[in-house]
Amino acid sequence: MRIDLAYCEELDKVVDIEEAREAFFEQEEYDKFHFLCSDKDCKEVRVTGVNHNKSPESDRIFKTPHFRELDKHADTCVWLEYTKAVEELKGERNKKRVGACNRNQHQLSSPIVEKFYLPSIDVERISDKTQSNDLTDIVNNKRGSERQIALRNYIRERGTTSRSLETLVSCYEELKELGALDEQIDVAGKQRTTFRRLFTSVVHLGSDDRFHVYYGGAKFGKKYGNGFSLIFFDKFEELPLSLYVSNEDVTSSKRYRLVTSVIDRLIAAKSENPKSYVNVYWIGGVEKRDNKASIQFLSPKHLAIRFVPR
Ligand SMILES: [Zn+2]
Repeated sequence: MRIDLAYCEELDKVVDIEEAREAFFEQEEYDKFHFLCSDKDCKEVRVTGVNHNKSPESDRIFKTPHFRELDKHADTCVWLEYTKAVEELKGERNKKRVGACNRNQHQLSSPIVEKFYLPSIDVERISDKTQSNDLTDIVNNKRGSERQIALRNYIRERGTTSRSLETLVSCYEELKELGALDEQIDVAGKQRTTFRRLFTSVVHLGSDDRFHVYYGGAKFGKKYGNGFSLIFFDKFEELPLSLYVSNEDVTSSKRYRLVTSVIDRLIAAKSENPKSYVNVYWIGGVEKRDNKASIQFLSPKHLAIRFVPR
């Protein structure tokens, strides 16, 4: 069963799973959230928020957070209808598309992101609500055949759109594991590319002027209060490359807490698994200064870090 939104008891609102995870890590003390089905006909029906309380990790076993069915839902539940529509449209789509990747579609724990929009940097809020607002509106306000049509249109048009770098990175890592990086993606309605081209190692930064998500492996550098630095394994144009996030940055923005939770795990793993490292993904560039290079990004929304256990 596919459930994309659920009512979170602690937050007292309907959220998608990324919002739930972000809100979880913004707490002063990490208390696990509890979720109920958002459908009016599913009173007290519990839903599990798988991995909403785990820091992002790159692993062979997929750790992408998602909602999972726990109790039985009402026959009229919107998520039963949604799941049916997703399955039907998937069959329709696969008939139209050719290529080895499509065989793997069903193995993904979440849908392939087909359109990506840059996460906005001007507003500090849990996440860009546009997408889940559309779905919330359908789920809450539409019934019968009107709902069926709206759900199908949503899945066709918007269901595979993301404004979250975290979601995009999770999708990329799953596709990489499945050997399916030639799946296509549309970036901000301007650039049609593949996941393989969109995600570019930092060593190729600057080789063209297309939009890229850069990545590189890195080890722990230092703590600066709540801030931290990471040292990349690769050099940038012969210069040592690092990521630095100041104590002030972390203290002034709750959005860094998801990232710092990964750094905390990396530090904790140091004694037992000293080979553990992180993959850093970012939207931005690299700045060279005083024989050093450091990665540059405009907002914590443009940075995602994945723990790689060893
Ligand atoms: Zn339900």
